[in-house]
Amino acid sequence: MDDGEVAMLASFLKLDEKDFIEQHTRLRWDRRGLALNERTDGSCIFLNKNNCEVQSVKPQQCKDFPNRWVNELWGKVPMENIQAKYPMLFNCSGFKKFLGEQ
Ligand code: SF4
Repeated sequence: MDDGEVAMLASFLKLDEKDFIEQHTRLRWDRRGLALNERTDGSCIFLNKNNCEVQSVKPQQCKDFPNRWVNELWGKVPMENIQAKYPMLFNCSGFKKFLGEQ
């Protein structure tokens, strides 16, 4: 997530940015930025059943799904790389449905 996305999410949740970062983010696997925390099952902390609790301010990577994935990444990037970078997606029912249709 970039600084603007952090600011939007923090504001939406009525938190200051420092508290939002402490409570809801972790360092990305490549240590080059922040990612949203995940539950122990790998699902995003803002996933509530099939709904995103931060829909109006969700990060760009969420907004890009599935179009960017299909057009730019799908079949061009090893599935293991996608899974390592975006584990929360693989616990999303919508994404599982998408995988089943491929
Ligand atoms: S779209 Fe999904 S992964 Fe993105 S913030 Fe919402 S619940 Fe989390």
